[in-house]
Amino acid sequence: MRFDIITVLPGLLESPFTHSILQRAQKKGVAEIVVHNLRDYASGKQKSVDDYPYGGGSGMVMTIQPFAACIEKLKSEREYDEVIFMSPDGETLNQKIANQLSIKGNIIILCGHYKGIDQRIRDIFVTREISIGDYVLSGGELPAAVLVDAVVRLIPGVLSDETSALSDSFQNDLLDAPVYTRPADWNGHKVPDILLSGDTPKVEQWRFEQAIERTKQRRPDLLE
Ligand code: SAH
Repeated sequence: MRFDIITVLPGLLESPFTHSILQRAQKKGVAEIVVHNLRDYASGKQKSVDDYPYGGGSGMVMTIQPFAACIEKLKSEREYDEVIFMSPDGETLNQKIANQLSIKGNIIILCGHYKGIDQRIRDIFVTREISIGDYVLSGGELPAAVLVDAVVRLIPGVLSDETSALSDSFQNDLLDAPVYTRPADWNGHKVPDILLSGDTPKVEQWRFEQAIERTKQRRPDLLE
């Protein structure tokens, strides 16, 4: 799977993809993440990527030309399944969307800034708009990193224990059960006996019950 992320601040995306699971996925060749500097595609001496909004008002708007040039170049090199714009007014990211995207081939992600991007970029090029929650950030880079992380860890072969993503919260509309590790007794705070029993079916049953209980308490909407 390949992600091409188009941004005016590539430096913001240097770190998130060079550690842990995302790094491993790229080393294994399961995921390729390429960051493109939007300014490299801007024409004119100033290499400008934004301009004043028509109709007046505060905030700059990102212009069509550099995005169009970058997207068209990428599309001339390979086919893309989606061109995603990270935007607070998009559909809210959830595990279902992450699952859907994890079986795609190539995805372009556009990061906005300032007041946003010219609506015509969205009308002409964008196939899907995704928000990471009901709050506004200053740019689309952190949302893009969140999206890529949520998707890449679901690609088969990325997590070392293949089943571990399946028992995570939101898969099967349940939150995850509580987890414990050594020591079994920390200053009198004990691990539930069942987890020390070695009885795998019973442990599985306990985890399932705990997951249901936790979901009932914290996210009853998921059980509906
Ligand atoms: N004026 C816009 C917000 C612009 S914020 C509005 O009110 O909808 C600048 C950029 O940050 C956006 O274009 C988007 O790419 C990114 N961004 C901000 N909050 C986001 C969120 N919750 N989810 C995804 N992207 C977001």
